[in-house]
Amino acid sequence: MKNLDQRNQIIEYSLKLNSTNLSPLRSGNISLRGKEDNKEGYLITPSGKKYETLKPEDIVFMGLNEEKKNDSANKPSSEWRFHRDIYLNKKEAHAIVHAHSPHATAVSSHGKTIPPFHYMIALAGGDDIKCAEYATFGTEELSNNVIKALENRSACLMSNHGQVAFGKNLEDAFELAQEIENICHQYTIALKLGQPKILSFEEMKKVLDKAKNYKKG
Ligand code: 13P
Ligand code: ZN
Repeated sequence: MKNLDQRNQIIEYSLKLNSTNLSPLRSGNISLRGKEDNKEGYLITPSGKKYETLKPEDIVFMGLNEEKKNDSANKPSSEWRFHRDIYLNKKEAHAIVHAHSPHATAVSSHGKTIPPFHYMIALAGGDDIKCAEYATFGTEELSNNVIKALENRSACLMSNHGQVAFGKNLEDAFELAQEIENICHQYTIALKLGQPKILSFEEMKKVLDKAKNYKKG
C-alpha cells in the first residue's frame, strides 16, 4: 500500500486523540503532507469513522488541487478544505491536528482572541491566539476564516467548534494542540477570578525573541 508509514502514523495519533481525550471518538481530524504518484497532496483521516476502528486503507490521499473524492469508499474528512488551504498557504505546515478539545472549545464559544495572560501564548507564533469566525463545519467559508485567524500563527481557535494546530511533523502539531488546550484550561480558571493581568507588547516581544531558541527536542 502507498504511504503505509504515514497512514500508520496518522492512525497512531488518531488513537492519541482518544487516549488523551483531546478529541475522542469521531470528532476532530488529522492530516499529513505527502505525495502519491508524484502528486503533491496530503493524507487525511476519513469522515465520521471512529478512531479505534481505523485501518491504513481508511486514510484518504487528496491532491492539493483536488476536490472531494466521490469515487472512493472512504470519504475524506469533511474538513479537507481547511487542511488543503493550510498546506497551500503555509509552506512550513507538514501536519495538522484539528480537535474539539474541551477547554479550547469552551473558550472558542466566546469567539474572542485570547490575549497574552500567560507568556506561553507565544507558542502559537505571536502575542495572542486568534479565533476564526464561525461558519458551518466543512465549508469553504470556514476554511477562509481559519486561514485568516492563522495569519502569522501556527494555531487558532474556531468559534463554537474547537481548535486547529499545525507543525513540521505530527508530533509537533499534536503537542501544539495539547498546549493550546492547556492554555485554554488555564484561561478559563483565570477568568473565574476576574479579569487577568495582560502582558504588555514589550514583554511578549522578549518572550517571542527567546522562544526562537527554546525547543530542544
Ligand atoms: P470528520 O469526521 O468529517 O473529520 O468531522 C469531524 C469534525 O471535527 C468536523 O469539524
Ligand atoms: Zn470539528
